[in-house]
Amino acid sequence: MIQGGLEAIDNTLRLVTVDYSWWQDAYDNIKEDNADWVRSNIGSGVVDSSALDLAVVAPPSGPAKYGWIKGQEVEGPQADLLTPEQILRMRKLIDNTPTDEVVALTQFDMVGNHLVLLAAAHITSDDPSGLEFDTLATNIFGFIFDEERISKLGETFLTDDLKLSSVIEPDKEHIALRGPVGEVLGYLVWTAPAPGAELLQKTLLPLSAALISFAAIGFLVAYGANKFAEELGRKEAESYENARTDSMTLLPNRFHFVEALGRRSVRTANEKGEMGVIFLDVDGFKNVNDTIGHAGGDDLICQVAQRLEAIIPDKAFLARVGGDEFNILLTGKEIASEVNAIAQKCIEEIQKDFRVKGRIFRVSVSVGYAIAEEGQTSCEEVVRRADVAMYQAKGQKTGEPVAYDKEYESNLFKNKQIDDALRAALNAGEVEVYYQPIVNAQSGKMEMVEALVHWDSKNLGSMSPAEFIPIAEESGLIGALGTYVFRKVCEDLVKNPEMLASINMSPVQLLDPLLVENLLSIIEQTGVDTARIELELTEGIVVSHPALAREKLTALKGAGFSIVLDDFGTGFSSIGYLRQLPFDKLKIDRSFISGVETNVEALNLMKSIASLGRALDLTVVAEGVETAEQANLAHLAGCNQIQGFYFSGPMAIADLLKWQHPGFDKSGNPESHLLRA
Ligand code: C2E
Ligand code: MG
Ligand code: MG
Repeated sequence: MIQGGLEAIDNTLRLVTVDYSWWQDAYDNIKEDNADWVRSNIGSGVVDSSALDLAVVAPPSGPAKYGWIKGQEVEGPQADLLTPEQILRMRKLIDNTPTDEVVALTQFDMVGNHLVLLAAAHITSDDPSGLEFDTLATNIFGFIFDEERISKLGETFLTDDLKLSSVIEPDKEHIALRGPVGEVLGYLVWTAPAPGAELLQKTLLPLSAALISFAAIGFLVAYGANKFAEELGRKEAESYENARTDSMTLLPNRFHFVEALGRRSVRTANEKGEMGVIFLDVDGFKNVNDTIGHAGGDDLICQVAQRLEAIIPDKAFLARVGGDEFNILLTGKEIASEVNAIAQKCIEEIQKDFRVKGRIFRVSVSVGYAIAEEGQTSCEEVVRRADVAMYQAKGQKTGEPVAYDKEYESNLFKNKQIDDALRAALNAGEVEVYYQPIVNAQSGKMEMVEALVHWDSKNLGSMSPAEFIPIAEESGLIGALGTYVFRKVCEDLVKNPEMLASINMSPVQLLDPLLVENLLSIIEQTGVDTARIELELTEGIVVSHPALAREKLTALKGAGFSIVLDDFGTGFSSIGYLRQLPFDKLKIDRSFISGVETNVEALNLMKSIASLGRALDLTVVAEGVETAEQANLAHLAGCNQIQGFYFSGPMAIADLLKWQHPGFDKSGNPESHLLRA
């Protein structure tokens, strides 16, 4: 992980350096020795944004002309922060690379008594091919590895004693930072945290990928507006052809696709009902990105594009219309009879193994298509229908292409219906709260319950919260629903003084500025002790709004609630946050529980997550335990509590009060299966 962090820093530095170097204006102004321009455009990167610690602009030969360190310009002859040898070395480093693309290369070196990561790139015009290296000035940018940067790196990776040292320390891990000729300039040393080494290994890649993208985003924000204006100007000047091409896959882009729909030949085919559109969307692409990083994700998309291109008919028009979305425009007399087979072939092709970054990946794709109705549909309407069909395919998950049917339009209508009915049910007090027991992993005794909303609609039948909560979140009804559930639980807690409960909070609720106030006013009205209530949250909000999550969770915790991280493990990037946020408890998602009896890897993963949680001083709960064996294994893995159908599903309060697990002795009889284990 530390290595990953270093790579992220390295990557960011190279990104920034290239961006400041592959720049027509910089090239022109440095040629003309326009000092004002250099100060206000390149110096500003260091001085104003404090994005960089050090910058040096070196002419093609001789000492550096301009230099900045820690927000200050170094004037006059001292501008050579770097020795002539160092500058020469950095220039040599990049001289050996081909010219048609601008690259920055990095190197650790000492600058004064600072250990610095340096990156160098030649300052070139927009078209660098053919430029002679020895005529070009060089940008050399750097990050100083001081205490602050190193401790930040450490914080992100759960090690609070990461530091720079001149020697290897006994009982500690280390990475050597090597200089230009391989000499050790210093060591990063830290105490390796013990928890869940295996889990850590598994998450190393996604974590560093996430870090790289976080770091990159951070820097883009840190840029001056100046630089952005330049970028825009450059973009504007790009040729018409570029504007119609997706630069990553080199396929036509959305703009070009829309343009193609307007062609006379396509419109004619459409009117004759001889036109069709296939809409493809890669499933779970965000996950792929999180797992192998954005560069890996890009690579995968390019491969998808190549495969599609290779199998579609010659006259088909393939475009990348979104991040993971492709459209295929087909025309011809036989189209109606061919389109399904073509769509099928696309699916088969994409389902084959991909090799990305030396690893084998499999992805699935959702495919919908629509065919023009003679004289009835516009070209745009056909595309929209293909999109609707694709969404239907996503929901069905059958791996088959889905042909448009107007029935699918009604999903939108159905959601509206559910939302209206739920609103009415809330007003009429027809929504109930069920409780699912959470038992002690050792004794099997019920320790508390999780409150789960239960709605048996008069008109629509019984529905899982998993179905109507997303709709309520979308429409905003979740606020009222959340308050309703919270009040009901408080009322039940008042009536049953022994009871402790956890309540689910939607991320959308956390965005409500009045949330804390509202909950506390219900607490005040009912007189329940907040120590009897746990609030469950999933990782999503923590990743998408870390600052807000921290603020809200701290306030809720301050009010006396316990905070639970629900469905842990489904969102990947939260290990760093686990430490920073005031969680008390972690619930291992049920996807990690299913299969532990038969699959060693699943079992090891569950154990690792449990030990990670315990090492972080959190209570660990296994969710979704359905069999005695799973309960045993969860207990042995070190889970403190267990919840699942094996003990009981959610039930009405009246049933809960009578509940006793059949065949499980709650008094801790030594015959109980858990103790036998
Ligand atoms: P969750 O918080 O992870 O709740 C656990 C879900 O897993 C419940 O589904 C529960 O019935 C189910 N479950 C429990 N044990 C087992 C088992 O052994 N096997 C299997 N297959 N499933 C088990 P449910 O009641 O359908 O709730 C689904 C989700 O809806 C909940 O997941 C929670 O995220 C959300 N939800 C439920 N009630 C509320 C609520 O009042 N407010 C909010 N915001 N979300 C809620
Ligand atoms: Mg929950
Ligand atoms: Mg859960």
